[in-house]
Amino acid sequence: MSNENKSIQEFDYPLICEYYANVERQGPGSPEITVKALGFIEHLNAQSRIADIGCGTGGQTMILADHIPGQITGLDLFPDFIRIFNYNAKRFNFQDRVKGIVGSMEHLPFRKEEFDLIWSEGAIYNIGFQRGLKEWREYIKPGGYIAVSEISWFTDKRPVEIYDFWTNAYPEIDTIPNKIRQMQEAGYIPVASFILPENCWTEHFYLPQIEVQRNFLKKYAGCKTAEEFIENQRFEVRLYDRYKEFYGYVFYIGKKI
Ligand code: SAM
Repeated sequence: MSNENKSIQEFDYPLICEYYANVERQGPGSPEITVKALGFIEHLNAQSRIADIGCGTGGQTMILADHIPGQITGLDLFPDFIRIFNYNAKRFNFQDRVKGIVGSMEHLPFRKEEFDLIWSEGAIYNIGFQRGLKEWREYIKPGGYIAVSEISWFTDKRPVEIYDFWTNAYPEIDTIPNKIRQMQEAGYIPVASFILPENCWTEHFYLPQIEVQRNFLKKYAGCKTAEEFIENQRFEVRLYDRYKEFYGYVFYIGKKI
């Protein structure tokens, strides 16, 4: 397989974690968009319980904490991300109601119907959109909400290069109407969906990586895996630039029936 066809999942995780620990966000998004999605969620109060699944270092979690009351639990597979998450919670003085724990989204360590809201930005693809919606539903109170962002096709047809890239990286990528239907079939009322604007990719995700890439290449000079990983990242940026009218992240907000 040529380097240009590799998806991020094929690189080793410690390397990916070290790279992403150096940026505020580990996926496309922005503070404005987190707040916009929050605008569709009703009835949160100081007693509310919120989970942020695949929280990474907590870029979006700290925005949530700044805008809503209640207890927030961030969960991520990687201890280094959770260490930074808890450091950030303390730095912003949220330590009494924001806590990061290490765990897997495939085996959530929570009680049934524990949460008023399950949040997940750019992470549900790790378990798969349909499986995540179905399994996580058990942990949401009746009438509670789920809000996830997910890579989606914007059009019915798309050029073969971008089709091949994404179906290889994430076979569950699908169109927005199909994702909404899947949300309904999983037992939610689809409350809202909207496309994340371009600056969620460029300004908030790709731009901060430029310096990290420079430093990474210096630190790992001569390391083939690191060089390949960075080249892969840069290839993804070029693909986005070329094909951004065909795909992107979409926020899907649902209410548990
Ligand atoms: N939500 C963060 C954001 O938007 O910046 C992180 C998004 S990042 C693209 C995906 C996150 O999912 C990473 O932090 C990764 O460690 C986490 N992850 C991957 N597999 C996981 C699993 N099985 N259980 C929990 N977290 C997982």
